[in-house]
Amino acid sequence: MSDRDLFSGLLAPRFCPGWAELLLPRIEARLQDGRHGDWPGWLALLRELPNVAPTLLDFAADAVTVGAETDCDGATRRSIETALRRLHPWRKGPYAIHGILIDTEWRSDLKWRRLAGAIAPLAGRRVLDVGCGNGYHAWRMLGAGAKSVIGIDPTLLSVAQFLAVRHFAGDWPVAVLPLGIEDFPSGTCAFDTVFSMGVLYHRRSPFDHLAELKGCLRPGGELVLETLVIEGEAGQVLVPEGRYAQMRNVWFIPSPPTLSSWLARAGFRRARLIDVSPTTIREQRSTGWMRFQSLADFLDPDDPSRTVEGHPAPRRAIFLAEAP
Ligand code: SAH
Repeated sequence: MSDRDLFSGLLAPRFCPGWAELLLPRIEARLQDGRHGDWPGWLALLRELPNVAPTLLDFAADAVTVGAETDCDGATRRSIETALRRLHPWRKGPYAIHGILIDTEWRSDLKWRRLAGAIAPLAGRRVLDVGCGNGYHAWRMLGAGAKSVIGIDPTLLSVAQFLAVRHFAGDWPVAVLPLGIEDFPSGTCAFDTVFSMGVLYHRRSPFDHLAELKGCLRPGGELVLETLVIEGEAGQVLVPEGRYAQMRNVWFIPSPPTLSSWLARAGFRRARLIDVSPTTIREQRSTGWMRFQSLADFLDPDDPSRTVEGHPAPRRAIFLAEAP
């Protein structure tokens, strides 16, 4: 199957009519950009995955669950695990695939818990998740009753991980597309809920990002915005020189009152802060499925309230707001 067939199958027809023509060339351009890993190798790996019918599916569980351990024999399960491990590093999860627990770098279920009770109920809604990683939260959104979920993320390994999970889960109205928000047609297809989690601080222009998100929402639709913040008053914002917690591409880290004023300035209504939590080494850590360094290595060993660069340690806020 060609890349075009794969993604047009994912897109059509349940998401937005007419989109396939617009998005497929952009998807192909992203896939052909060889700087981002080994797409042909991952695709070959996906084609080799065994077909096992799942007797159990639970997208509402903390570990997104696809299939039971007893659905296949031990040799098949070991071959699945070997293939999944070749998609290292697994950052967002956890997942349980036919009894194989993918213990990811992030306990992404903890973020979901912080917002699930506060957002507009997802039942029947069309959802966009910008910067969705491998789609962990997209499955949780489906588990919460969303009618359809499109996730976009330019990291091709994340897209390959999503396709691996989807291979075992089957055909559900959920897609992860290899696109950045800048590739996405603002204003052509209005979503009921748009998530942007862990993306704003990676964008060089926070106001352009907020405008892009607003352009993807129907009037009255809900934005769920999660990002790094600092403690502080209105007007305060950290623009780290050099790295922040070893990340190179971190631009703006506002205080919650600053972010609230940005949302109003960008034209959103009823912006409200529903959670602020420091990121802990329980939530973000190295595991067997993500063997590189993680948060504990990015904090000052003598003062864990600081990053190794001397900035305030990561804390994250979740805002809800309404499109006009
Ligand atoms: N939303 C997930 C993942 C956050 S990590 C969560 O909250 O757990 C941030 C993600 O944003 C990464 O997967 C990265 O590839 C993606 N990203 C970076 N630049 C982006 C862009 N321009 N458009 C969309 N996603 C982007």
